[in-house]
Amino acid sequence: MTVGIVGAGITGLALAHYCRERDVDAVAFEASAKPGGVIRSDRVDGRVLEHGPQRTRLTPAIESLIDDCGLRGDLLTADTDLPLYVYADGRLRQVPFSPRAFLTTDLLSARGKLRMLAEPLTGGARDDETAADYFTRKFGSEAYHNMIEPLFGGIYGSDPDEMPGEYALRTMRRMERSGSLVRAAVHRRLDGKERQPPISFAEGMAQLPRALYEHNADRVELETAVEHVAADGTGYRLDTEDGSYAVDRVVLTARADVTAGLLDSVDPESASALRRLYYNPLAYVHLVSEADPDGFGYQVRHDESLRTLGVTWNASLFDRDGVYTCFLGGMKHPGMIDRSDEELGRIASEEFETVMGVSAEAVNVTRHPRGMPAYDGSWAAMEAVDPPDGVTLATNYTGRMGVPARVREARRLAEAFATGDEGSATTAVAEA
Ligand SMILES: Cc1cc2nc3c(=O)[nH]c(=O)nc-3n(C[C@H](O)[C@H](O)[C@H](O)COP(=O)(O)OP(=O)(O)OC[C@H]3O[C@@H](n4cnc5c(N)ncnc54)[C@H](O)[C@@H]3O)c2cc1C
Repeated sequence: MTVGIVGAGITGLALAHYCRERDVDAVAFEASAKPGGVIRSDRVDGRVLEHGPQRTRLTPAIESLIDDCGLRGDLLTADTDLPLYVYADGRLRQVPFSPRAFLTTDLLSARGKLRMLAEPLTGGARDDETAADYFTRKFGSEAYHNMIEPLFGGIYGSDPDEMPGEYALRTMRRMERSGSLVRAAVHRRLDGKERQPPISFAEGMAQLPRALYEHNADRVELETAVEHVAADGTGYRLDTEDGSYAVDRVVLTARADVTAGLLDSVDPESASALRRLYYNPLAYVHLVSEADPDGFGYQVRHDESLRTLGVTWNASLFDRDGVYTCFLGGMKHPGMIDRSDEELGRIASEEFETVMGVSAEAVNVTRHPRGMPAYDGSWAAMEAVDPPDGVTLATNYTGRMGVPARVREARRLAEAFATGDEGSATTAVAEA
């Protein structure tokens, strides 16, 4: 069996790698000259800047990929106990991730904390509520407003008020199986999942896909955009500018709108549904500052007058020579990415100074016009996505978004191809 993979981002590369391990014939076609997809890092004036993910977690699967590719020597790990903050009522306030921090944080009043503790007495997720309704019902309006909205909404650049629970809360539903979210969080802490440290690499996150590419270069065709997927006997044909390739199975890892264009002839209904999925636009401004805080960074509470959504403190996490990454745009200010570099740089640096009390200079702007899957009402279109046998959609709008989840899905698919378990190689249910 030959598997044709469209895209050599982390999903496509990990899939090519795991297929090799399992003796499954696979080839990944990548439109761009560089592997890695949204994972992009470079050096500007000697400093490492992250243009996509700022970090990931050292899960067992990622750790073994690192070892397979000989990347251990360049691995950077951050302290799991570094604090994360929310900017609220004019100050940075620590998000409590431990019982002690819960008692001492000033992000919540005593009343707000007591209300949070009542979560095990509340009911499970309902299909007809939004993520905002759900979290408010579970934890109370203060915890929602001060903590959950900035953190949960911050992951996707979305507004939980616009995120139907049916699509946005699948992970929460799984956590609820242990009786309550609080109990599930405690279990996660006890079984060590919360202790998987944040990681990056000496030359940035992009070192991981680059190393995976180098390790599997004979199975990855760079600068080879797939233009169509066509049915071909019992399998498929991938048409590229350089020629056509016959494969038995196709795995599509590109963005929903791109995948729609590829599927038009074999599955027009899925293609039309995929075109409706909305992604939040994001702009990243890289700042350099002499501020020297300890922590992950901060998210900004929704009702603050700042336009900044949040800031990652790369300087503190991975000793990145004064670098801070400021996020602008998202569902709250979608027009932000149309502003000039100068204006975005000015907004980011002025607001950084307001929060941190130290000046910052903008050194780069990166735009993601279709950045994060929004998991908003447009996700109802996923109900109509049902690719034909032999075609699997596997990326961050079908499964979970984070790099660890992408790697896990790639391994699951390779295993399904290796064992001939076609039922397990189907498209995952959309899951935030
Ligand atoms: C802005 C941003 C920040 C994020 N931050 C984090 C974070 O901090 N931590 C974390 O764990 N996760 C983060 N994520 C999530 C994670 O990085 C992504 O979900 C993951 O990298 C997506 O990988 P992928 O391979 O599925 O898709 P992609 O990276 O999108 O790769 C798809 C590939 O397909 C290629 N392609 C497109 N069209 C074609 C075609 N016609 N033919 C051939 N190839 C084609 C593209 O060039 C691309 O390389 C972030 C995501 C984004 C967008």
